[in-house]
Parts: sequence; C-alpha cells; structure tokens
Amino acid sequence: MVEDMKGKIRVFCRIRPLTRAEQAKRGHTIVACLDDYSVILETPRGPREFQFDKIFNSECTQEEVFIESSGLIQCAIDGFNVCIFAYGHTGSGKTFTMVGDRDQRNPGIIPRTFTKIFEIIHDNDSKFEFKVSAYMLELYNDRLQDLFVSPAEAFSKRIEIKRDRKGLVFAQGAETKEAASAGELFALFEQGCGNRHIASTKMNVESSRSHLIIGIMIESRNLTNGSVCFGKLSLVDLAGSERAAKTGAKDDQLKEANSINKSLSALGDVISALSMEQPHVPYRNNKLTQLMQDSLGGNAKTLMFLNISPSDCNLDETLTSLIYATRVKAITNNAQRNVDSKEIAQLKEVCILFIKITPFY
Ligand code: ADP
Ligand code: MG
Repeated sequence: MVEDMKGKIRVFCRIRPLTRAEQAKRGHTIVACLDDYSVILETPRGPREFQFDKIFNSECTQEEVFIESSGLIQCAIDGFNVCIFAYGHTGSGKTFTMVGDRDQRNPGIIPRTFTKIFEIIHDNDSKFEFKVSAYMLELYNDRLQDLFVSPAEAFSKRIEIKRDRKGLVFAQGAETKEAASAGELFALFEQGCGNRHIASTKMNVESSRSHLIIGIMIESRNLTNGSVCFGKLSLVDLAGSERAAKTGAKDDQLKEANSINKSLSALGDVISALSMEQPHVPYRNNKLTQLMQDSLGGNAKTLMFLNISPSDCNLDETLTSLIYATRVKAITNNAQRNVDSKEIAQLKEVCILFIKITPFY
C-alpha cells in the first residue's frame, strides 16, 4: 500500500509451467520461488535472487492472477489512468496472462477486465451514469494500425500519438467504439484480434509478432453533484524479444524481429533513464515508448507482468528479463485523478455543442 501511495510501478513476476515440448526435450527447471516475493534463478555462476511485488508460481491460476490485479480496475473507474502490461521473451506466457488460451477456457486479464468493469458499473448505476469506449491498436514494423477497421482501410489511415493538457496519451485518427456490456466489448476485441498480423516462429507457434494496445475509456457522471470523472485503462501485450538466430526468422520475419527489438530496446532506454532519474527521458525515439509515455514515469498507476519460462534452455532470456524488470520496479509515477466539477463538465459540453453546430469553427 505504501508503495502504491509513493506511485511506484508494481511488478508481478509469473513463472509459467514447462511446456509439453520442453518436457519432451527433458528440459529442467532453473527457476524457484523462495516465498511470495522472491524468485531464484540457477545460473552457471551460481544462484541469483530477485525480488518483486508478487511472484506467481507455475501452479497459480488465471483467477488468482486476476484477483491480485483487479483493484486497478476500480482505480480506472474512479478516474485514474491505469496501465497493465506484460513483458517477457517470446513463449514466456505474456499472451496467456493478458488474453488467455485460444478457446478461452482459461481467460486472461483482458476478458476478465471487461466483465469486471461492467460488474462495477452495474453495482453503481443508481449513483453514476457511465460511458465506456475503447480503441485497439497494433504496432507492427514501426507502424500503428487501427484494429477496429479492416487491414486494407487501416493501411491507408494515419494514426498519430498525441498528449492532452494533463499528459494523457491518445491515438488521434483511431476509431473509438462505445460498448454497453462486457459482451459487446469482448465482441469488439475479437473483431480486432481477427485483424492482427500473426506468424509462427520456432520458439512459439502462435507467437504474435506485434505489440497489442487496448485503451478503455470510462467516463462517469455523479448523479448527485454532477461531477464527471474520466479514467483510462491501457492493456498491453508486448511482442517478444528474441534473437533472430534462435527463432529461425528470415526476410520479412527478420524485419519484424528487428523492429520488435528496436522498440523493446527503446523501452529499455526509457526505463534506464527513468530508474536513474535522468533529466532527459527518450520517449520520442519509438512509437511504443510514445504510446507508453503516460504509463512509465507518467501519471498512471502501472502494473507490469514479467513473464518468465522456468526452462534451462531460456536461461539467457530469463536473466535479461529479470534484470530489466528490477529496473522497472525503481520507477515512480505521479498518479492523479481526472475529475471535472459539474460547472467545468457543463462548460465542456457547451464547447463541444458549439463546435458541432458552428459549421466553420
Ligand atoms: P508469449 O505471448 O509470451 O509469446 P504465450 O502466452 O503464447 O507466450 O505462451 C506460450 C505457451 O505456453 C502457450 O502455449 C501458452 O498456452 C503456454 N502457457 C503460458 N503460460 C502458461 C500458464 N501459466 N499455464 C499454462 N500454460 C501456459
Ligand atoms: Mg504473445
């Protein structure tokens, strides 16, 4: 709680089970949990211990992982800017944690969040009026694509990352869709997933070769005093950082891997600058870091999932990820609620109406 008040980014580390392929290759486990907060990695130079805000071992269920994260959904409804993102190498369990398995028998954080948002709304609808809308983007080969339109239409569209006066990031030019229920939001999400670029690499047959960014905006009007609150919840499933030689990627896939590595190394530079409290933070070097500017060192309540594999064959990637995540833990954000009084909210409405009815404004 104290960490939260100070605005530290929280880091949860999740260790996935050995996959069937790893078991078949007689891969052995080199990661162990000491307790709820400490993880040990066996390296050729001896054991290394890392500490995080919570460790989920390979037996933890999607439900348990969600319960620990779901407090942030209430924060978004209360008017905070919230970001939950998954980081880790390809095949470490990011998509499983964020989205779940393919047939949704084990749904992850994203679909559970949709349900939770509308449960909270339902419990409070006698006191507040709510509006929920979302955008869904893919960052692929340094290009931002709108997943709410067909790939052909998305290709001809230009999306720009902008920030408003409060520092909140928004995607100008991206389609924003309203949803009146969890089912509607899930249908939009599935439609968006259908428009993604997916190719298989040796490391992970269903590997997503792009970063997925979902923004959910929640506006609530207090029916008693008329004040209006705006919360934003960003859910991010990053593409994996793997070395091209290990994945067997060629040509187009090599271009993808290079672009992914570029954006993740830009993210690493931003994390280093923030954790060392340097005066200049290089957010503008990449679209990914521009998009995450309000979530890292910005005004969001941020939770990072570090996904790791327990297998000895991923030792290098796991060690790199653990060191990376230790730096993220040191970053402090400055989270603030976005609330307008009744008078300001009314004034904004008048301005919007004025813009709509004045043809040459
Ligand atoms: P990433 O998105 O990091 O590339 P995935 O989420 O696709 O990795 O996970 C790789 C494989 O491991 C998938 O087959 C996935 O279903 C499985 N997996 C990952 N995490 C878990 C877990 N906690 N429990 C069971 N299976 C998992
Ligand atoms: Mg993935």
